[in-house]
Amino acid sequence: MELRRERFTAELLDPRRGFEQTRASVEVRWDPLTGQSCRLLPQGSLPAPVVQDLEALAEQSRASCPFCLESIERETPRFPTGVCPEGRFRVGEALLFPNLVPYAKWNSVSVYSPARHLLPLEQLTPSLIGDNLAAQVQFARAVIAHDAASAWVSINANQLPPSGSSIFHPHLQGSANPVPTTAQRLFAELAPERVRRFVELERDDGERFIASTGRVAWLASFAPVGLAEVRAFVADTASTVDLDEGEIAELASGLSRVLRLYAQLGFQSFNLTIYGAAPSKPDAMLVVRLVARAYFGPLQRSDVMWSERLHAEAATHFNPEQLADLGRGLFSRPAD
Ligand SMILES: [Zn+2]
Repeated sequence: MELRRERFTAELLDPRRGFEQTRASVEVRWDPLTGQSCRLLPQGSLPAPVVQDLEALAEQSRASCPFCLESIERETPRFPTGVCPEGRFRVGEALLFPNLVPYAKWNSVSVYSPARHLLPLEQLTPSLIGDNLAAQVQFARAVIAHDAASAWVSINANQLPPSGSSIFHPHLQGSANPVPTTAQRLFAELAPERVRRFVELERDDGERFIASTGRVAWLASFAPVGLAEVRAFVADTASTVDLDEGEIAELASGLSRVLRLYAQLGFQSFNLTIYGAAPSKPDAMLVVRLVARAYFGPLQRSDVMWSERLHAEAATHFNPEQLADLGRGLFSRPAD
């Protein structure tokens, strides 16, 4: 297995320096698991993420929010009794119900707490995340008990509008289908031995390895698919339905730290996915991925352009090795 990278030098006469000859290096990397390439730009190539006024956005969206305490029972759907006799799943403060917009055969939305319309990333605690993940695991188990063919399960998140979320109130989304998504299939087709070798390679190399928290290994992606991609691998777990209480708590604690890292870097928006594979393979590793999302510059440019959408190649100036360095600092502190 190879961590393949190639460096190129771009040359131009720079008007900002009296048309002096200027060189900049661009690095292309290939992901050892997926083969997908990415492009690392020189540090500082792109502006810092725009800081969104979360308080103002919360105020604007609160009155019409269907996920707030006053509206959620009235405005969100319920599951058929064959899946959930109570209609909705509750764990701690988390409440899970069907998505009104069907993206999958079985969809769910789970709010961290109907009482918390505004949840900056620093306030997404391990217990809020853990209860929400547990609700998603209950949902997936109930769906599979009712409809065994819908075993391709994933847990996902869009947080805030830059990530694609149409509802401000923070939530996760679950999906259960008879067929996998493209990325779900690619990861499920990898031999478990190959994934394990990759995690061991990154652990031994150390530069991008953030932490091992017991059953879960956390690392900065060698060839990120987006801004500040972090991946986690859960040992001997093929699907989210296999996660036990201890693994959910471990994932929640790690995710809370990664989100704190994103907040430190100036992000409040992110996408998350926990891919699940079906049918289950012995020794499989469950793959978790997160990317930060943001608008950039005064025109609120998207962080996704032709390169990401049409060439499947992220262009980023967030260096994976520096990201891992910051991440190690956060993972070495005690959890909340
Ligand atoms: Zn709300």
